[in-house]
Amino acid sequence: MGSTPTIPTKVLLFIQLKIKMVPRRKKRYLKKSITHPIDNSDRLRIIPLGGLEEVGRNMTVIEYRQDIIIIDMGLQFPEEDMPGIDYIIPNIAYLRGKEKYIKGVIITHGHYDHIGAIPHLIPKLGRPPIYGTPLTLGIIAKRQEDYKNGGGKLDLQAIDNETKLRLGVFELEFFGVSHNIPGSLGVIINTPVGLIVHTGDFKLDLQPSGDTPTDIAKIAKLNDKNVMALLADSTNATQPGHQFSEQEIMGNLEDIFRQAKGRLIIATFASLLGRIQQIIQLAEKYDRSVILDGYSLKTNVEIAQQLGYLKIKSGTLITYNEMKKLPGRRILILCTGAQGEGRAVLMRLANREHKRTRIESGDTVVFSSSVVPGNERSVQYLVDTLYRDRSHKL
Ligand SMILES: [Zn+2]
Repeated sequence: MGSTPTIPTKVLLFIQLKIKMVPRRKKRYLKKSITHPIDNSDRLRIIPLGGLEEVGRNMTVIEYRQDIIIIDMGLQFPEEDMPGIDYIIPNIAYLRGKEKYIKGVIITHGHYDHIGAIPHLIPKLGRPPIYGTPLTLGIIAKRQEDYKNGGGKLDLQAIDNETKLRLGVFELEFFGVSHNIPGSLGVIINTPVGLIVHTGDFKLDLQPSGDTPTDIAKIAKLNDKNVMALLADSTNATQPGHQFSEQEIMGNLEDIFRQAKGRLIIATFASLLGRIQQIIQLAEKYDRSVILDGYSLKTNVEIAQQLGYLKIKSGTLITYNEMKKLPGRRILILCTGAQGEGRAVLMRLANREHKRTRIESGDTVVFSSSVVPGNERSVQYLVDTLYRDRSHKL
């Protein structure tokens, strides 16, 4: 595990003077002896350690004299030509020797490309406090428990879109953003040289599902302030037009529920909690009992349910044993594996390696998440394998 250091040369969408980019250092950068001295000038540094010019491992360092804050600490899924690599984490060599200046880590939301590196990196960074919404922190805490090599205890501090926070010289405020996981935040960072706005992942969806809309009014108020840098991130930002609203997706899903005569098998991302809520609501409406299959899916649903982010009627969730008593039209299997992940439930079903059930004649299989860039081939393999089976509809 590990990564090539990525110190990008082009960074910000909009930027004024006073920000100095760190030059690209190649081999020298990896030497242990190299530390970056404290800069006591009035220079503010914004240093993405990952997540720029790539999808995944989001992590940005903001540094002014002896104060450092970090936004996000994510992982990146490996490319198909990286056999044996589970995932990739940001290179934190730049922070070596500066651990004691790190005042806090802000996590914008609970997706793995924003939280996934925490168990690996936090112990190396002097365990600074981690700030996030209750759902984000719940997912982080659960992942920490599961992390076998002992990430140790975390200092978790709950925030919401009303919180005001002072970390060293930085004053922070937050605004709600709609994404496809509840509890997502954008961050406004007041620095001695001007404002930085970091949107996190966001969607301008006026009809989000189970999620608050992006707080456009709060963002609009920044118009008359000295916003020096806007850090914004959006997959597929190069494509013109609007993203589908979650309500439109709900309509498409509902058509599938109306038409499916046999079992429905819907694969999605374990962290797409907004989508999971929609699917469960539709199951309740169309009188289907739901089997949750996939470890991360089950734990995320449990955390979100405990914290009140997900509403599921009692009796909706059933087990495979209980499924045997029901006809196909009363069954929904909600599972992981829509990205073609090798060990996830849908791949095991496609390969007939699943211990509890098989794809049966009359089943409808639905992929309910867009393909993450880089996963196209695995997804196509999965689709081909399912087609070859011929006993069901896709
Ligand atoms: Zn995200």
